[in-house]
Amino acid sequence: MSTHPKRLIWFCETERVAEDLDSLTKLRDEIGLTTIMPESFVCHTSGFTASPEITKSGPFEDWRTRNQLHPRASQGIYPPVCGTVGGFDDTPLLGVIEKCRSIGIEVWGHLGLWSYGGDVYPEYAMMDIDQNPLDPKYKRWGIGLCPSRPNLVKWTRDCLVDVVKRYDIDGFDVDHSRYPAPGNLSSLFACACPSCQEEAGRMGYDFERMKTGLTHLRQSLRALTGKTIERALLGNPNFWQFLSVLGADPSVLEWFHFRAKVLARRMQEFRSAVQEAGGRDKVFGSDVFPPSISLLGGHLYEQWEQGSDFLTGGSSSGGVVGWATTVTNLASEWAPALCSVVDTLDESDALHLIYQLFGYDDFDLPRSVEGIEKEDLPIAEMYNREIVRMTAQTSGNRPIYPPISTSGPTGLVRQLCESVSSNQCDGMLFSGNPQSPDTLSSLKDAFASI
Ligand SMILES: [Zn+2]
Repeated sequence: MSTHPKRLIWFCETERVAEDLDSLTKLRDEIGLTTIMPESFVCHTSGFTASPEITKSGPFEDWRTRNQLHPRASQGIYPPVCGTVGGFDDTPLLGVIEKCRSIGIEVWGHLGLWSYGGDVYPEYAMMDIDQNPLDPKYKRWGIGLCPSRPNLVKWTRDCLVDVVKRYDIDGFDVDHSRYPAPGNLSSLFACACPSCQEEAGRMGYDFERMKTGLTHLRQSLRALTGKTIERALLGNPNFWQFLSVLGADPSVLEWFHFRAKVLARRMQEFRSAVQEAGGRDKVFGSDVFPPSISLLGGHLYEQWEQGSDFLTGGSSSGGVVGWATTVTNLASEWAPALCSVVDTLDESDALHLIYQLFGYDDFDLPRSVEGIEKEDLPIAEMYNREIVRMTAQTSGNRPIYPPISTSGPTGLVRQLCESVSSNQCDGMLFSGNPQSPDTLSSLKDAFASI
Protein backbone atom coordinates (compact mmCIF):
# COMPACT_ATOMS: atom_id res chain seq x y z
CA MET A 1 0.00 0.00 0.00
CA SER A 2 1.22 3.50 -0.86
CA THR A 3 2.59 5.65 1.93
CA HIS A 4 2.11 8.85 -0.05
CA PRO A 5 -0.18 11.58 1.28
CA LYS A 6 -3.75 10.95 0.19
CA ARG A 7 -5.25 14.06 -1.27
CA LEU A 8 -8.59 15.14 -2.62
CA ILE A 9 -7.74 18.36 -4.42
CA TRP A 10 -10.20 20.87 -5.81
CA PHE A 11 -9.05 22.76 -8.90
CA CYS A 12 -11.37 25.69 -8.31
CA GLU A 13 -11.98 29.25 -9.44
CA THR A 14 -10.62 31.78 -6.95
CA GLU A 15 -13.30 34.43 -7.36
CA ARG A 16 -16.13 31.93 -7.17
CA VAL A 17 -14.86 30.28 -4.00
CA ALA A 18 -14.17 33.69 -2.46
CA GLU A 19 -17.88 34.44 -2.78
CA ASP A 20 -18.88 31.18 -1.13
CA LEU A 21 -16.25 30.35 1.47
CA ASP A 22 -18.64 28.00 3.25
CA SER A 23 -18.41 25.64 0.28
CA LEU A 24 -14.90 24.78 1.50
CA THR A 25 -16.12 23.64 4.90
CA LYS A 26 -18.97 21.75 3.26
CA LEU A 27 -16.65 19.86 0.89
CA ARG A 28 -14.21 19.10 3.68
CA ASP A 29 -16.97 17.65 5.86
CA GLU A 30 -18.96 15.91 3.13
CA ILE A 31 -16.33 14.36 0.89
CA GLY A 32 -13.01 14.78 2.69
CA LEU A 33 -11.52 17.70 0.72
CA THR A 34 -7.87 18.10 1.75
CA THR A 35 -6.44 20.64 -0.68
CA ILE A 36 -7.40 23.37 -3.12
CA MET A 37 -5.62 24.66 -6.19
CA PRO A 38 -7.36 27.94 -6.97
CA GLU A 39 -7.01 29.74 -10.31
CA SER A 40 -8.35 33.11 -11.32
CA PHE A 41 -9.44 32.89 -14.94
CA VAL A 42 -8.74 36.62 -15.25
CA CYS A 43 -5.02 36.57 -14.45
CA HIS A 44 -4.26 32.80 -14.87
CA THR A 45 -2.51 32.50 -11.52
CA SER A 46 -4.23 31.83 -8.20
CA GLY A 47 -4.79 35.59 -8.11
CA PHE A 48 -1.45 36.78 -6.78
CA THR A 49 -0.45 40.43 -6.80
CA ALA A 50 3.02 40.70 -8.31
CA SER A 51 5.44 42.64 -6.13
CA PRO A 52 6.87 45.97 -7.44
CA GLU A 53 10.27 44.30 -8.04
CA ILE A 54 8.72 41.53 -10.13
CA THR A 55 6.60 44.00 -12.09
CA LYS A 56 9.61 46.20 -12.76
CA SER A 57 11.54 43.36 -14.37
CA GLY A 58 8.48 41.73 -15.93
CA PRO A 59 8.69 41.06 -19.69
CA PHE A 60 4.92 40.90 -20.16
CA GLU A 61 3.74 44.13 -18.56
CA ASP A 62 2.70 45.72 -21.87
CA TRP A 63 0.02 43.09 -22.58
CA ARG A 64 -2.78 45.64 -22.43
CA THR A 65 -1.36 47.30 -25.55
CA ARG A 66 -1.28 44.01 -27.46
CA ASN A 67 -5.00 43.61 -28.11
CA GLN A 68 -4.29 42.95 -31.78
CA LEU A 69 -2.51 39.75 -30.76
CA HIS A 70 -4.61 39.17 -27.66
CA PRO A 71 -8.16 40.45 -28.25
CA ARG A 72 -9.28 39.48 -24.74
CA ALA A 73 -7.01 42.22 -23.41
CA SER A 74 -9.90 44.61 -24.09
CA GLN A 75 -11.95 42.68 -21.48
CA GLY A 76 -9.09 42.88 -18.98
CA ILE A 77 -8.22 39.16 -19.37
CA TYR A 78 -4.48 38.59 -18.97
CA PRO A 79 -2.59 36.45 -21.50
CA PRO A 80 -1.36 33.12 -20.15
CA VAL A 81 2.39 33.64 -19.66
CA CYS A 82 5.14 32.13 -17.50
CA GLY A 83 4.86 34.15 -14.29
CA THR A 84 2.99 36.79 -12.33
CA VAL A 85 2.01 39.95 -14.18
CA GLY A 86 1.32 43.21 -12.34
CA GLY A 87 -1.88 45.01 -11.50
CA PHE A 88 -4.01 42.18 -10.14
CA ASP A 89 -5.90 42.58 -6.87
CA ASP A 90 -5.35 39.64 -4.52
CA THR A 91 -8.22 40.37 -2.12
CA PRO A 92 -10.32 37.33 -3.20
CA LEU A 93 -7.34 34.99 -2.91
CA LEU A 94 -6.39 36.28 0.54
CA GLY A 95 -9.93 35.58 1.77
CA VAL A 96 -9.73 32.02 0.40
CA ILE A 97 -6.33 31.37 1.98
CA GLU A 98 -7.49 32.69 5.34
CA LYS A 99 -10.55 30.46 5.29
CA CYS A 100 -8.50 27.39 4.32
CA ARG A 101 -6.06 28.05 7.11
CA SER A 102 -8.86 28.25 9.65
CA ILE A 103 -10.38 24.90 8.62
CA GLY A 104 -7.23 22.89 7.86
CA ILE A 105 -7.28 22.76 4.07
CA GLU A 106 -4.01 22.95 2.12
CA VAL A 107 -3.59 25.62 -0.56
CA TRP A 108 -1.52 24.95 -3.67
CA GLY A 109 -0.60 28.00 -5.70
CA HIS A 110 -1.31 28.00 -9.42
CA LEU A 111 0.96 29.63 -11.98
CA GLY A 112 1.33 28.91 -15.70
CA LEU A 113 4.59 28.26 -17.54
CA TRP A 114 5.30 27.71 -21.25
CA SER A 115 2.68 26.06 -23.45
CA TYR A 116 0.81 29.29 -24.26
CA GLY A 117 1.61 32.96 -24.75
CA GLY A 118 3.94 32.69 -27.75
CA ASP A 119 1.28 34.17 -30.03
CA VAL A 120 1.05 37.29 -27.84
CA TYR A 121 4.83 37.49 -27.28
CA PRO A 122 6.44 36.33 -30.55
CA GLU A 123 9.80 37.65 -29.34
CA TYR A 124 9.81 34.91 -26.65
CA ALA A 125 7.96 32.25 -28.64
CA MET A 126 9.10 28.71 -29.41
CA MET A 127 10.77 28.29 -32.80
CA ASP A 128 11.06 25.13 -34.86
CA ILE A 129 14.25 23.53 -36.18
CA ASP A 130 14.26 25.90 -39.17
CA GLN A 131 13.83 28.92 -36.87
CA ASN A 132 10.21 29.40 -37.94
CA PRO A 133 7.41 30.29 -35.51
CA LEU A 134 4.79 27.62 -34.75
CA ASP A 135 2.00 27.34 -37.30
CA PRO A 136 -0.90 29.57 -36.16
CA LYS A 137 -3.42 27.14 -37.68
CA TYR A 138 -2.77 24.92 -34.63
CA LYS A 139 -3.33 27.75 -32.16
CA ARG A 140 -6.09 25.91 -30.28
CA TRP A 141 -3.44 23.48 -28.94
CA GLY A 142 -1.15 26.29 -27.79
CA ILE A 143 1.57 28.49 -29.25
CA GLY A 144 4.26 28.21 -26.63
CA LEU A 145 6.96 30.29 -24.99
CA CYS A 146 10.58 29.13 -25.10
CA PRO A 147 11.59 27.28 -21.91
CA SER A 148 15.31 28.13 -22.21
CA ARG A 149 15.59 31.92 -22.56
CA PRO A 150 17.84 32.82 -19.63
CA ASN A 151 16.04 36.07 -18.80
CA LEU A 152 12.61 34.40 -18.86
CA VAL A 153 13.78 31.43 -16.78
CA LYS A 154 15.25 33.76 -14.18
CA TRP A 155 12.15 35.93 -14.06
CA THR A 156 9.80 32.95 -13.69
CA ARG A 157 11.96 31.59 -10.87
CA ASP A 158 11.89 35.01 -9.21
CA CYS A 159 8.07 35.05 -9.52
CA LEU A 160 7.74 31.68 -7.79
CA VAL A 161 10.12 32.69 -5.00
CA ASP A 162 8.39 36.04 -4.56
CA VAL A 163 4.98 34.34 -4.25
CA VAL A 164 6.08 31.62 -1.84
CA LYS A 165 7.66 34.24 0.41
CA ARG A 166 4.64 36.54 0.50
CA TYR A 167 1.68 34.14 0.52
CA ASP A 168 0.74 31.52 3.06
CA ILE A 169 0.57 28.62 0.61
CA ASP A 170 1.70 25.00 0.90
CA GLY A 171 3.46 24.88 -2.45
CA PHE A 172 2.63 24.99 -6.15
CA ASP A 173 0.81 22.97 -8.75
CA VAL A 174 2.20 24.74 -11.82
CA ASP A 175 0.26 24.64 -15.07
CA HIS A 176 1.29 24.73 -18.75
CA SER A 177 4.56 23.06 -17.79
CA ARG A 178 4.73 21.39 -21.17
CA TYR A 179 5.07 21.94 -24.89
CA PRO A 180 1.83 22.57 -26.79
CA ALA A 181 -0.35 19.47 -27.12
CA PRO A 182 0.93 17.27 -29.98
CA GLY A 183 -2.18 18.10 -32.01
CA ASN A 184 -0.03 21.12 -32.83
CA LEU A 185 2.13 19.32 -35.36
CA SER A 186 4.50 22.23 -35.80
CA SER A 187 5.30 22.26 -32.08
CA LEU A 188 6.81 18.77 -32.29
CA PHE A 189 9.77 20.37 -34.06
CA ALA A 190 10.25 23.03 -31.36
CA CYS A 191 11.76 24.63 -29.42
CA ALA A 192 14.98 24.87 -31.36
CA CYS A 193 15.71 28.56 -30.87
CA PRO A 194 19.33 29.64 -30.24
CA SER A 195 18.81 29.43 -26.44
CA CYS A 196 17.51 25.85 -26.70
CA GLN A 197 20.40 24.96 -29.00
CA GLU A 198 22.82 26.25 -26.38
CA GLU A 199 20.95 24.25 -23.75
CA ALA A 200 21.30 21.13 -25.92
CA GLY A 201 25.06 21.65 -26.03
CA ARG A 202 25.24 22.09 -22.26
CA MET A 203 23.25 18.88 -21.78
CA GLY A 204 25.53 16.89 -24.08
CA TYR A 205 23.20 16.65 -27.08
CA ASP A 206 24.32 17.13 -30.66
CA PHE A 207 21.75 19.60 -31.96
CA GLU A 208 22.85 19.40 -35.59
CA ARG A 209 22.49 15.63 -35.58
CA MET A 210 18.98 15.87 -34.14
CA LYS A 211 18.09 18.54 -36.70
CA THR A 212 19.33 16.32 -39.55
CA GLY A 213 17.28 13.39 -38.22
CA LEU A 214 14.14 15.50 -37.90
CA THR A 215 14.59 17.05 -41.35
CA HIS A 216 14.94 13.59 -42.82
CA LEU A 217 11.82 12.41 -40.98
CA ARG A 218 9.84 15.37 -42.28
CA GLN A 219 10.95 14.60 -45.83
CA SER A 220 9.98 10.94 -45.39
CA LEU A 221 6.56 11.97 -44.11
CA ARG A 222 6.04 14.20 -47.13
CA ALA A 223 6.97 11.32 -49.42
CA LEU A 224 4.77 8.80 -47.59
CA THR A 225 2.65 6.55 -49.80
CA GLY A 226 -0.39 4.38 -49.22
CA LYS A 227 1.74 1.36 -50.00
CA THR A 228 4.22 2.14 -47.20
CA ILE A 229 1.36 2.53 -44.74
CA GLU A 230 -0.24 -0.72 -45.88
CA ARG A 231 3.03 -2.56 -45.47
CA ALA A 232 3.70 -1.02 -42.05
CA LEU A 233 0.24 -1.89 -40.77
CA LEU A 234 0.91 -5.59 -41.37
CA GLY A 235 3.39 -5.46 -38.50
CA ASN A 236 0.89 -3.87 -36.10
CA PRO A 237 3.41 -1.12 -35.23
CA ASN A 238 3.35 1.34 -32.38
CA PHE A 239 4.22 4.97 -33.03
CA TRP A 240 7.98 4.58 -32.66
CA GLN A 241 8.07 1.44 -34.80
CA PHE A 242 6.14 3.28 -37.48
CA LEU A 243 8.74 6.06 -37.46
CA SER A 244 11.41 3.42 -37.98
CA VAL A 245 9.56 2.18 -41.05
CA LEU A 246 9.80 5.76 -42.32
CA GLY A 247 13.54 5.59 -41.83
CA ALA A 248 13.72 7.68 -38.67
CA ASP A 249 17.03 7.16 -36.89
CA PRO A 250 17.63 7.25 -33.11
CA SER A 251 18.24 11.01 -33.21
CA VAL A 252 14.45 11.52 -33.48
CA LEU A 253 13.83 9.78 -30.18
CA GLU A 254 16.82 11.65 -28.79
CA TRP A 255 15.15 14.93 -29.80
CA PHE A 256 12.00 14.11 -27.84
CA HIS A 257 14.10 13.12 -24.84
CA PHE A 258 16.09 16.33 -25.10
CA ARG A 259 13.05 18.62 -25.16
CA ALA A 260 11.43 16.70 -22.27
CA LYS A 261 14.63 16.93 -20.24
CA VAL A 262 14.77 20.69 -20.73
CA LEU A 263 11.40 21.05 -19.02
CA ALA A 264 12.28 18.53 -16.32
CA ARG A 265 15.44 20.51 -15.54
CA ARG A 266 13.43 23.69 -15.19
CA MET A 267 11.07 21.92 -12.80
CA GLN A 268 14.03 20.80 -10.70
CA GLU A 269 15.50 24.29 -10.65
CA PHE A 270 12.17 25.88 -9.73
CA ARG A 271 11.42 23.31 -7.04
CA SER A 272 14.83 23.90 -5.44
CA ALA A 273 14.34 27.66 -5.48
CA VAL A 274 10.84 27.44 -4.00
CA GLN A 275 11.95 25.10 -1.23
CA GLU A 276 15.03 27.15 -0.47
CA ALA A 277 12.92 30.28 -0.09
CA GLY A 278 9.81 28.80 1.48
CA GLY A 279 11.02 25.70 3.30
CA ARG A 280 11.46 22.03 2.46
CA ASP A 281 7.83 21.31 3.26
CA LYS A 282 6.58 23.32 0.26
CA VAL A 283 5.45 20.87 -2.41
CA PHE A 284 6.10 21.52 -6.08
CA GLY A 285 4.55 19.67 -9.00
CA SER A 286 2.43 20.03 -12.10
CA ASP A 287 -0.14 18.44 -14.31
CA VAL A 288 1.28 16.14 -16.98
CA PHE A 289 0.13 14.76 -20.29
CA PRO A 290 -1.19 11.20 -20.02
CA PRO A 291 1.14 8.29 -20.88
CA SER A 292 0.04 7.62 -24.47
CA ILE A 293 1.36 10.98 -25.63
CA SER A 294 3.46 12.18 -22.70
CA LEU A 295 6.83 12.16 -24.43
CA LEU A 296 5.43 14.01 -27.46
CA GLY A 297 4.22 16.75 -25.13
CA GLY A 298 7.47 17.02 -23.19
CA HIS A 299 6.97 14.69 -20.24
CA LEU A 300 9.40 11.91 -19.50
CA TYR A 301 7.97 10.70 -16.20
CA GLU A 302 11.19 9.27 -14.86
CA GLN A 303 12.83 12.69 -15.26
CA TRP A 304 9.73 14.57 -14.16
CA GLU A 305 9.60 12.75 -10.85
CA GLN A 306 12.96 14.30 -9.97
CA GLY A 307 11.55 17.83 -9.98
CA SER A 308 7.99 17.13 -8.84
CA ASP A 309 6.54 16.07 -5.54
CA PHE A 310 3.44 14.69 -7.27
CA LEU A 311 1.91 14.09 -10.69
CA THR A 312 -1.56 15.23 -11.63
CA GLY A 313 -3.53 16.21 -14.74
CA GLY A 314 -5.57 19.08 -16.11
CA SER A 315 -8.90 17.37 -16.83
CA SER A 316 -10.29 13.88 -17.35
CA SER A 317 -11.56 14.54 -20.86
CA GLY A 318 -12.08 17.31 -23.39
CA GLY A 319 -10.14 20.49 -23.99
CA VAL A 320 -6.40 20.53 -24.60
CA VAL A 321 -5.27 18.37 -21.69
CA GLY A 322 -8.11 15.88 -21.11
CA TRP A 323 -6.51 12.54 -20.34
CA ALA A 324 -9.19 10.36 -21.97
CA THR A 325 -9.37 12.35 -25.20
CA THR A 326 -5.69 12.89 -25.72
CA VAL A 327 -5.32 10.38 -28.58
CA THR A 328 -8.53 11.40 -30.34
CA ASN A 329 -7.46 15.05 -30.06
CA LEU A 330 -4.17 14.28 -31.72
CA ALA A 331 -5.85 12.09 -34.35
CA SER A 332 -8.20 14.92 -35.32
CA GLU A 333 -5.20 16.98 -36.49
CA TRP A 334 -2.84 14.26 -37.65
CA ALA A 335 -5.35 12.43 -39.87
CA PRO A 336 -6.08 15.42 -42.15
CA ALA A 337 -2.34 16.15 -42.28
CA LEU A 338 -1.61 12.56 -43.35
CA CYS A 339 -4.37 12.67 -45.97
CA SER A 340 -2.92 15.87 -47.40
CA VAL A 341 0.36 14.10 -48.22
CA VAL A 342 -0.94 10.65 -49.18
CA ASP A 343 -3.36 10.97 -52.11
CA THR A 344 -4.73 7.47 -51.77
CA LEU A 345 -5.38 7.67 -48.03
CA ASP A 346 -8.87 8.55 -46.85
CA GLU A 347 -9.66 10.03 -43.44
CA SER A 348 -11.12 6.80 -42.11
CA ASP A 349 -7.94 4.82 -42.85
CA ALA A 350 -5.73 7.61 -41.52
CA LEU A 351 -7.64 7.58 -38.23
CA HIS A 352 -7.45 3.81 -38.06
CA LEU A 353 -3.67 4.01 -38.48
CA ILE A 354 -3.31 6.63 -35.72
CA TYR A 355 -5.53 4.72 -33.30
CA GLN A 356 -3.34 1.69 -33.88
CA LEU A 357 -0.07 3.59 -33.39
CA PHE A 358 -1.23 4.69 -29.94
CA GLY A 359 -2.84 1.41 -28.92
CA TYR A 360 -6.43 2.62 -29.24
CA ASP A 361 -7.58 0.46 -32.17
CA ASP A 362 -9.57 -1.89 -29.94
CA PHE A 363 -11.98 0.93 -29.02
CA ASP A 364 -14.94 1.56 -31.27
CA LEU A 365 -13.85 5.07 -32.21
CA PRO A 366 -15.26 7.37 -34.94
CA ARG A 367 -13.69 7.03 -38.35
CA SER A 368 -14.09 10.72 -39.19
CA VAL A 369 -12.82 13.92 -37.59
CA GLU A 370 -16.38 15.21 -37.50
CA GLY A 371 -17.35 12.06 -35.63
CA ILE A 372 -14.60 12.64 -33.06
CA GLU A 373 -16.00 16.08 -32.42
CA LYS A 374 -19.68 15.16 -32.37
CA GLU A 375 -20.16 11.53 -31.39
CA ASP A 376 -20.08 10.04 -27.92
CA LEU A 377 -16.67 8.55 -27.19
CA PRO A 378 -15.96 5.70 -24.75
CA ILE A 379 -14.52 8.18 -22.26
CA ALA A 380 -14.51 5.93 -19.20
CA GLU A 381 -12.66 3.14 -21.04
CA MET A 382 -10.12 5.50 -22.62
CA TYR A 383 -9.55 7.20 -19.27
CA ASN A 384 -9.00 3.87 -17.58
CA ARG A 385 -6.43 2.91 -20.21
CA GLU A 386 -4.43 6.05 -19.43
CA ILE A 387 -4.63 5.45 -15.68
CA VAL A 388 -3.45 1.85 -16.10
CA ARG A 389 -0.56 3.01 -18.31
CA MET A 390 0.26 5.80 -15.88
CA THR A 391 0.66 3.51 -12.91
CA ALA A 392 2.66 1.08 -15.07
CA GLN A 393 5.01 3.74 -16.41
CA THR A 394 5.81 5.59 -13.19
CA SER A 395 8.10 4.49 -10.39
CA GLY A 396 5.66 4.70 -7.52
CA ASN A 397 8.03 7.13 -5.80
CA ARG A 398 5.67 10.06 -6.32
CA PRO A 399 1.96 10.26 -5.55
CA ILE A 400 -0.40 10.34 -8.53
CA TYR A 401 -3.55 12.44 -8.36
CA PRO A 402 -5.40 11.95 -11.66
CA PRO A 403 -7.83 14.63 -12.86
CA ILE A 404 -11.60 14.21 -12.62
CA SER A 405 -13.86 16.72 -14.39
CA THR A 406 -17.09 16.74 -12.42
CA SER A 407 -19.22 18.54 -14.99
CA GLY A 408 -19.98 15.33 -16.94
CA PRO A 409 -22.89 12.92 -16.41
CA THR A 410 -22.95 11.49 -12.88
CA GLY A 411 -22.59 7.90 -14.14
CA LEU A 412 -19.42 8.82 -15.99
CA VAL A 413 -17.96 10.65 -12.99
CA ARG A 414 -18.51 7.52 -10.91
CA GLN A 415 -16.70 5.36 -13.49
CA LEU A 416 -13.74 7.78 -13.57
CA CYS A 417 -13.54 7.80 -9.80
CA GLU A 418 -13.61 4.01 -9.72
CA SER A 419 -10.72 3.91 -12.21
CA VAL A 420 -8.66 6.06 -9.89
CA SER A 421 -9.37 4.01 -6.79
CA SER A 422 -9.07 0.59 -8.41
CA ASN A 423 -5.65 1.48 -9.86
CA GLN A 424 -4.31 2.47 -6.45
CA CYS A 425 -3.70 6.11 -7.18
CA ASP A 426 -3.17 8.39 -4.19
CA GLY A 427 -6.18 10.63 -4.59
CA MET A 428 -7.54 12.86 -7.28
CA LEU A 429 -7.76 16.44 -8.45
CA PHE A 430 -11.29 17.39 -9.39
CA SER A 431 -12.47 20.40 -11.33
CA GLY A 432 -15.85 22.03 -11.80
CA ASN A 433 -18.32 22.95 -9.12
CA PRO A 434 -19.79 19.65 -7.97
CA GLN A 435 -23.29 20.02 -6.57
CA SER A 436 -25.19 16.84 -7.36
CA PRO A 437 -25.37 14.32 -4.49
CA ASP A 438 -24.36 11.52 -6.90
CA THR A 439 -21.19 13.30 -8.01
CA LEU A 440 -20.27 14.19 -4.44
CA SER A 441 -20.80 10.64 -3.27
CA SER A 442 -18.68 9.27 -6.17
CA LEU A 443 -15.78 11.47 -5.10
CA LYS A 444 -16.30 10.61 -1.46
CA ASP A 445 -16.56 6.85 -2.03
CA ALA A 446 -13.52 6.69 -4.30
CA PHE A 447 -11.43 8.79 -1.97
CA ALA A 448 -12.51 6.82 1.07
CA SER A 449 -11.48 3.55 -0.61
CA ILE A 450 -7.96 4.78 -1.44
ZN1 LIG B 1 13.88 27.86 -27.16
